[in-house]
Amino acid sequence: MELEFHGAAQEVGRSCIELRLDDGDRFLFDVGIKFSEGGLVFPEKVLEIKELDGVFLSHAHLDHSGGLPLFENKDLKGPIFSTKQTLAISRILLKDSYKIARIRNLHPAYDLDDIKEVYRDSLFVEFDQWYVHRNIRFMFLNAGHIPGSAMILVEAEGKRILYTGDINTRDSQLMYSAHANPILKEKRVDVVITESTYGDKELPDREELRKKFIQSIKKTIKQGGSVLIPTFALGRAQEILIMLSEEDFGVPIFMEGMCNTITRKILQTPSKYVKNKKKLSDVFYHKIQWIGSPRRRNKILKKQGIFITTSGMMQGGPVLSYLKELWHNPKNKVTLMGFQCKNTNGRHLLEEGFTYIDGWKTTVKCQVEKYDFSGHADSQGIKNLLLAINPKKIFFQHGDPIAIKNMKDWSDKGITSKTFSPAVGSVYKI
Ligand SMILES: [Zn+2]
Repeated sequence: MELEFHGAAQEVGRSCIELRLDDGDRFLFDVGIKFSEGGLVFPEKVLEIKELDGVFLSHAHLDHSGGLPLFENKDLKGPIFSTKQTLAISRILLKDSYKIARIRNLHPAYDLDDIKEVYRDSLFVEFDQWYVHRNIRFMFLNAGHIPGSAMILVEAEGKRILYTGDINTRDSQLMYSAHANPILKEKRVDVVITESTYGDKELPDREELRKKFIQSIKKTIKQGGSVLIPTFALGRAQEILIMLSEEDFGVPIFMEGMCNTITRKILQTPSKYVKNKKKLSDVFYHKIQWIGSPRRRNKILKKQGIFITTSGMMQGGPVLSYLKELWHNPKNKVTLMGFQCKNTNGRHLLEEGFTYIDGWKTTVKCQVEKYDFSGHADSQGIKNLLLAINPKKIFFQHGDPIAIKNMKDWSDKGITSKTFSPAVGSVYKI
């Protein structure tokens, strides 16, 4: 049995790992894409695969799902196994990325029909149930990362392999956390392939962070300012809504962007690992006001309020139209809600105090803060999970080289598992 890493090895993006069995069957864990300055980057060498026996999709983020339509375009068939929520959300994200790629003249390498085909080839699985497919059996376990997200346990040719996908090992306002499910201890796991996004970082206590965030908004409102919350549409937007639902700020809360469609989809699709659905539904349908047109946006921006909108790194979506009206008043505040990649408007704003509005470099006068409500486990979270599972072999992937190195150094010193930090193209016999 072999593993080949087609992407997300010593990098974040284009997750895709192939599992080749001795009987010739081939399976993939995720088929993601990566956004780079030159356009979209797909996993390496996957299109050389002639026949495929199945794809396990861990969750909807495009760096895990974005390459699926490309397979359809090449007529490479095989069932795609995912949870219902993952597929429902992937469909929205795939359509949106197709639209954006077309607008930016990046060739998406597939067409809209291929996205429909992804849906047709998909088979839904429930969490915590064994399924048999060809000569393997598999189970999806909660990953705690975003709605629908799963770790995937596969049993094949007498071995147990766990692919974590993206995991969060701490409860958030929206998700129950991933943990070492008792099923993982019934028989020793041979191989864990784990994400390492925050392999070199410890994240702040989430409850403390929540309190700070709420207090900061209240302070701004009290001093007569407005708050702009740029957010990621999936996961973070819903968590913000739940946090705000428990408070009375004395000003209206407005929301605009793709978070609308996604929140609706999360509420419509059942998942036992999504928390606070009632609170989310109440705030979504009764407490916030939706903005659907630039005219209405201009009107509400004349008054004091809390504005939640996409995108999280201020690279697209309506957020810059809001900033255009809010940046010049020192009483106003922008609260960035997660990691900001290099060369994004969010990163410029946070570190250098400027951003580009309508192409003009604008040094803002409003306040800027950052709250890292990450959907990922930090290094201690990953370590605890690995210690609890105690597998024979560990592959560290989905992280920058420094994060991977940090995890590998720790495991080489402290635990008995054999560990590996693959590069793109690496093949291992397991
Ligand atoms: Zn993810």
